[in-house]
Amino acid sequence: MPWYKKLHWQIIAGLILGLIYGVVAACAGWGGFTAAWISPFGKIFMNLLKLIAVPLVLTSLVTGVASLSDLKKLSRMGGKTIALYLSTTVVAVIIGLVVVNVLQPGKRLPAELRTRLEQSYQADVESRTAAAKEVKKRGPLDPLVDMVPGNFFNSAASNQNMLQMVFISLLIGIALIRVNPERAKPVLDVFNGLMDTVIQLVNLIMLMAPVGVFALLAGTITDLAKDDPSQIVELLRGLGMYCFAVVLGLGIHALGIYPALLQLFTKMKFKRFIQGIWPAQLMAFSTSSSGATLPVTMHQCEKELGVSEEVSSFVLPLGATINMDGTALYQAVAAVFIAQVVNIDLTLGAQVTIVLTAVLASIGTAAVPGAGIIMLVIILEAVNVPSAGIALILGVDRILDMLRTVCNITGDSTVATIIASSEGQLKMPKDH
Ligand code: ASP
Repeated sequence: MPWYKKLHWQIIAGLILGLIYGVVAACAGWGGFTAAWISPFGKIFMNLLKLIAVPLVLTSLVTGVASLSDLKKLSRMGGKTIALYLSTTVVAVIIGLVVVNVLQPGKRLPAELRTRLEQSYQADVESRTAAAKEVKKRGPLDPLVDMVPGNFFNSAASNQNMLQMVFISLLIGIALIRVNPERAKPVLDVFNGLMDTVIQLVNLIMLMAPVGVFALLAGTITDLAKDDPSQIVELLRGLGMYCFAVVLGLGIHALGIYPALLQLFTKMKFKRFIQGIWPAQLMAFSTSSSGATLPVTMHQCEKELGVSEEVSSFVLPLGATINMDGTALYQAVAAVFIAQVVNIDLTLGAQVTIVLTAVLASIGTAAVPGAGIIMLVIILEAVNVPSAGIALILGVDRILDMLRTVCNITGDSTVATIIASSEGQLKMPKDH
């Protein structure tokens, strides 16, 4: 068994033990101890993953684009990728809307719980709406302007600027295709060497994954419970129908749409696909960040699914940044849920607005924990639902974030597999 397969079992053990420890610690009131002595290891692990996000996107996209060697191939692959990313996100939002309209979870929220939630999350709502205002203040073309940075190092200085990094990397890759091959070669060699180094860094960082995942889950649970686990149980009971709607929607999308697409466009069996990417799904679940999971997603797609490096290094960094089916679906469910609670009837027009804004919002959502709920504020405002309504769902957001992130990276991997297959670049390893 290769070492990384053994490691995956250790990561699962870390995940399960983290869950158990988190529940025990929450019941026993060890929140302070966990925050001081356990959570920091989770933070270190997250930081290590984030540390390599920018170098990984830069080197993999530059080498990925430059290796395409002609611009026609790039625009063909780019066009297919964007079309698939957009259409799967639209389908995700529609599934979310259908589920939430059929189940009507907002009509079942007890009035007493509603008042209590609104009071206890008041302060959190303010910080989220302030963050969303920053985004909203801008003109319609500002997201486009934001994508084009004026300084390379400013973009590389923050993981929040990933879309700018994607843009710069694409541009450098395209420029390299146009440079005389003799002159381009040494530059490409440097990028290729850096890329190999980054991959080795990923392998090193993953050695810490079992401990990191344990600490992340333990910390998340004790944070949520605040030494009073009955609180979570009560929240889950009150918001159970809402959580169920999100989970059902994600389930339909991940277990219905993705397998159908794979079946339609590739020879890959869904079971085999899941066997290949579950370690990345596990990582997405533990970190709630598709950006932090990107190194693992790329590794799994290449080594286990047989997606060529050329395709994975172009499609996956782009997907981690702009393709968030799970987030868009959740935003649609959440927006309608809040409208139902506050008794606002959303017309068909308003629901179409949700489709459009959710697709755009999910593109603009950063691939980090909790980013989806900030963009939700913008969707709520677009359909005239009070954004303070996010107070109702903040308590369970982290749990749903873990699940929607799993859906996000599953979507990226599905598209990468389809593109690879359509380009004749899906070489399934023989041992499967
Ligand atoms: N955590 C999600 C991700 O990184 C984004 C979100 O929905 O909050 O994919």
